[in-house]
Amino acid sequence: MTRVLVVGSVNMDLVVEAERYPRLGETLFGKRFASYPGGKGANQAVAAARLGAQVTLLGCVGRDMFGSQLKEALQAEGVDIGRLREAEVATGLATITLAEGDNAIVVVPGANHELLPQHLDQDEQAFRDADVVLAQMEVPLATVERAAELAQRHGKPFLLNPAPAHPLPSSLLERAALLTPNEHELAQALDERGGDWQALMRKLPGRVAMTRGKDGAYFCRADGSLHHQPGFVVSAVDTTGAGDTFNGALAAFWPQGLEAAMALACAAAALSVTRAGAQGGMPTLAALQQMLK
Ligand code: ATP
Repeated sequence: MTRVLVVGSVNMDLVVEAERYPRLGETLFGKRFASYPGGKGANQAVAAARLGAQVTLLGCVGRDMFGSQLKEALQAEGVDIGRLREAEVATGLATITLAEGDNAIVVVPGANHELLPQHLDQDEQAFRDADVVLAQMEVPLATVERAAELAQRHGKPFLLNPAPAHPLPSSLLERAALLTPNEHELAQALDERGGDWQALMRKLPGRVAMTRGKDGAYFCRADGSLHHQPGFVVSAVDTTGAGDTFNGALAAFWPQGLEAAMALACAAAALSVTRAGAQGGMPTLAALQQMLK
C-alpha cells in the first residue's frame, strides 16, 4: 500500500442549473441545485484512496456546515483527516452556474488560504511517514514551497500538479520529482508564451509528465526522448476530474515506476470520464483491474 501525503485544497462545489444566465441585478428561478465535494487536493486524495493507497490529507476547512460535510465525505473514502485543520473562515467553495451550454464559476478559497507553511512544520511527521507527497496550486504558494522543502528533507518524491496554471518559482521547479501539467499549465509553469510543448517539456528532462486529454500523457525522459502513453478509448460522459484522477493514481502507483504508473493513471482517468462528477467518476482498484483484464 503506497502511503500518499496530499497537501492541498478542500472545497464544496455548489452547482446551479438555469435556462439562461441572469442579467446584472436580476433574480432568476433556477432548474436544479446540487452540491459536490471538490477541491483538487481532496479530489486527488480520494482518487488515490479508491485505488488502494493509504492517504493522508493536509488541508484546511472552516468550522461550518460544508467543512463538516466534507470531512465526513473524506472519512467515508478512507482518507486520513486526522491532520486536517479548521480555521475561523468559511470552507473553500466554488459556485458553478450551468446555463446556455456553458458554465460560469466563482471560486472562494476561504479556509484553503489559511493552510500556512508553519502548519506543515507542525505536521512534519506526516512527511516522514509518506512514500510520496502530492500537491497542487490551490493553497498558498509559500505552503506548496514548504511542502516541497519538507519532502526533500525527508527524501520523499514530491509530485506537483501545477494547477490552476501559475508560473512556478525555480525552487519548485528544482524540487519537484515530477510536474504533471496539461499543455496550458506547462507553458504557464515555465512562464513561456505559447511555444512548442515538446520543446518546453525538454526544459525539464526526466521531470515532467504532461496530460493531453484523450490523447493520453507524455513523459520527457532524462535523455530528452518522449514517452507517449496513449489514452484509453472510452465513451466520455463527463471529463471533470480526469486530471485529478490521473494525479491521484500516479501517486498511488508511483512505486511501480513512472512509465507503469502513467499507464495505470491514464487507464484510471479514462474510466473516470465514463461517469458523471469529479469524485463520482473515480474508479476503485477493482474497477481498474477489471478494465485492464
Ligand atoms: P481537468 O482539469 O479537466 O480534470 P486536465 O486538463 O488536468 O483535466 P486532461 O489532460 O484533460 O487533464 O486529462 C487527464 C488524463 O485523463 C489524460 O492524460 C487522459 O489519460 C485522461 N483523459 C482525459 N479525457 C479523456 C478522454 N476523453 N478519453 C480517455 N481518457 C481521457
